[in-house]
Amino acid sequence: MDELVALCKRRGFIFQSGDIYGGLQGVYDFGPLGVELKNNIKRSWWEAMVYDNDNIEGLDSSILTNPLVLKYSGHEETFSDPMVDCKECKSRFREDQLKNGKCDRCGSDNLTEPRPFNLMFKTSVGPIEDEKNYAYLRPETAQQIFTNFKNIIDSTSQSLPFGIAQIGKAFRNEITPRNFIFRVREFEQMELEYFVKPGDDEDAHDIWVQKRLDWWDQQGVPIDNVELYNVPREELAHYSKKTIDLMYKFPHGNEELEGIANRADFDLGSHSKKQSELNIKSSVSKNKDSNSKLAIQDEGGDWMVPFVIEPSAGVERGFLAILNEAFTIEDLPEGKQRTVLKLKPHLSPIKIAVIPLKKNNEEMVSHANVLIKELKELRIGRVVLENTGNIGKSYRKHDEIGTPICMTIDFETLNDGSVTIRDRDSMEQSRIDSSSLKELIIHKIKL
Ligand code: ATP
Repeated sequence: MDELVALCKRRGFIFQSGDIYGGLQGVYDFGPLGVELKNNIKRSWWEAMVYDNDNIEGLDSSILTNPLVLKYSGHEETFSDPMVDCKECKSRFREDQLKNGKCDRCGSDNLTEPRPFNLMFKTSVGPIEDEKNYAYLRPETAQQIFTNFKNIIDSTSQSLPFGIAQIGKAFRNEITPRNFIFRVREFEQMELEYFVKPGDDEDAHDIWVQKRLDWWDQQGVPIDNVELYNVPREELAHYSKKTIDLMYKFPHGNEELEGIANRADFDLGSHSKKQSELNIKSSVSKNKDSNSKLAIQDEGGDWMVPFVIEPSAGVERGFLAILNEAFTIEDLPEGKQRTVLKLKPHLSPIKIAVIPLKKNNEEMVSHANVLIKELKELRIGRVVLENTGNIGKSYRKHDEIGTPICMTIDFETLNDGSVTIRDRDSMEQSRIDSSSLKELIIHKIKL
């Protein structure tokens, strides 16, 4: 972990938020390379969900959440972790994360009884700060998917089975944020709510577990390194009928990368019921025939509240797992070593570094700039000029940040347009003709 953290800071992937003022615990900023990797992970998820499946729609809902949504979803009452205080050193911990029931800081077993600590962040809304004018920062993106269920049915032509996908920030006031970006207070989730007929839920659950394993595999987190954990009944979240966690061996231990829950009809059911009880007028209540407002008609015209399967992955945990898998230190001849991030090329923050052989050779530099302009038109991601005149140093830098292609412009390039391409992983170099260059690049970079 220490090596990853150091690399992330040195190369501009991740910084502690507000570090000029001592930072803010459990909150991080993503730098120039970090934002690229993060966006690439999110894009890859979005493509696999929304673009590859005609029956999945996208959503981008608000972070500020009406407290009634989180009251009736059960979060106000139950979205908490057990907190204990150490009576000796006054530290606070999550009881279920303590080793041997002892204080993590001073080792004492003189601890208070655990009490529930609600993880939701509350904020005031509008100019008057009082108990009535508050909202929550959402602790999961899922709830607004449920509250928009009818809006999406009514504005699209979807019928069961279908899904709604969303990527966005979530906030949890974790008692003990730790392990770099693994457990933080502000993070992003990639969540799919996949609605099916009751009775079809168990098969759909199995299918989504497999699909998600395959997706992680394509991102460079091999299936063999992910374990399935069937969460025991007593550990299930309040909404879950069954949950399979994808457990990954992070540098600090084997922990949850993604949770795939069968939420049954818990959420749509409770929001519908509470809306009816409270007689709340909303745009979703048009269906007079429906005895439940967040419902859908089957082929026979009967109304039903569907069941839902929810694959929910954290972007930061994915980022950490992907970096951990990619991070490699290789022995080279003559007792040397190189650090290389063997990222899947579609995730690499920089796709191509174009390196003129001679720093001060105007012809080479201007040729490089023309080529970069053309390569940018391929829309494959960032293409940069590396004008140091030191090929070895440029290779070392780009190995360390995971750039899959280094392209050298030399005297031959000026004659015939051909370039030398150096592959990051094999370090092999090959001379490529200008006519086949673009095709080769697209082949190497696209998933
Ligand atoms: P944990 O048991 O580790 O606290 P959880 O079971 O509460 O996680 P879920 O509610 O299932 O997590 O959230 C779905 C996903 O969101 C998790 O699999 C994880 O990838 C991510 N996630 C949850 N909490 C955090 C956090 N504090 N920091 C970073 N990612 C998180």
